[in-house]
Amino acid sequence: MTTGEAATVPAAQRDVQPGAPALPRYGELTLADLGTSLLASLGVPGEPNPLGLHLADRVCLLVIDGLGWELLRDHPAAAPFLSELAVTAAPLTAGFPATTATSLSSIGTGLPPGQHGVLGYQVRIPGHAALLNALRWDRAVDPVSWQPAATIFERAAAAGIAAIRVARTAFRDTGLSAASMRGADYRPADSLGALVATAASALAERAPALAMVYYGELDGTGHACGCRSAAWRYQLAHVDRLAEQLAGALPGGTVLYVTADHGMVDVPQRDRIDADRMPQLQAGVSLLGGEPRARHVYARPGAAADVLAAWAETLADTCWVIGRDQAIADGWFGPVGDGLADRIGDVIAAPRGPSAVVATVTEPRESALIGMHGSLTTADQLVPLLVRWSG
Ligand SMILES: [Zn+2]
Repeated sequence: MTTGEAATVPAAQRDVQPGAPALPRYGELTLADLGTSLLASLGVPGEPNPLGLHLADRVCLLVIDGLGWELLRDHPAAAPFLSELAVTAAPLTAGFPATTATSLSSIGTGLPPGQHGVLGYQVRIPGHAALLNALRWDRAVDPVSWQPAATIFERAAAAGIAAIRVARTAFRDTGLSAASMRGADYRPADSLGALVATAASALAERAPALAMVYYGELDGTGHACGCRSAAWRYQLAHVDRLAEQLAGALPGGTVLYVTADHGMVDVPQRDRIDADRMPQLQAGVSLLGGEPRARHVYARPGAAADVLAAWAETLADTCWVIGRDQAIADGWFGPVGDGLADRIGDVIAAPRGPSAVVATVTEPRESALIGMHGSLTTADQLVPLLVRWSG
């Protein structure tokens, strides 16, 4: 590597050794740090600004579900506007697992997963033999008890800043919204055009103001068709136009940030390990949580060591397999708050490459997806942080 190339290696990738997990850089360069840095940029006292964001009166954060840094980098023709912004930008690490519920919670609270406690797509409800699906939620689980910390929207509002969310009507009253993004003035918008118009008019109403705009269909297209498909590229072009229109419509002086909650990889059929058809992955297991690229494995009482040994041996060539205590010690989730460790699997399995631990019987829908995410590879972890001043 020449000196010139070394200078352009994005900071989030700098310390990743070949074969080692791309551990999130909590406190420096993750989505949680974006949450606090946005507040700091609006002048909220006591909020750290590790990203060094510039002071502004109006901030618009556009979150594109599933727009990984490497995917954006590989598709300049489909996304000319975003790619131009990426030339002078650097990626963040999402956090573990690299999944929507966890990442939106990290942005929404400014806390790492180990502190906000939304630790995956499906995690065990402590004291119950059941999983909480963080996207569908469960009426028996109170979202505010599950995630009691004040959100960035609540903290903004307490500092006199208008706190706005713009997203589909369907996401307004979800458990995840109540847990990790409560306190915002929710403006429903159910199309690309409505996202632009609604965000622009909401931000024009007053200052200072913070608006988070969320778009989910790029991720959906990647799951259904693959993130290396023609369908994904065409969908990315719509996303590019969304961002460009938003940049043009926002009130003068607004800073537009564009980020994502995670990247994605396409998982070939031959690289799918089916936990539902492998007895060695079932012995001693009470619940299989997480998702195919970020598994939380909950053991029966007394069986954790045996489950760890069996999973580590079976998946030695495909996954990083680690026990709960080691994962916490290695910083996979950031510092873990009191009482939250029980939500983490006794064993965690995260693919090293484009493979997955599916469960075709118990999770037929998730197991059939083409594009997947969650792990600690750079394809899952790295997300853009693009900046554009309007007006
Ligand atoms: Zn997804």
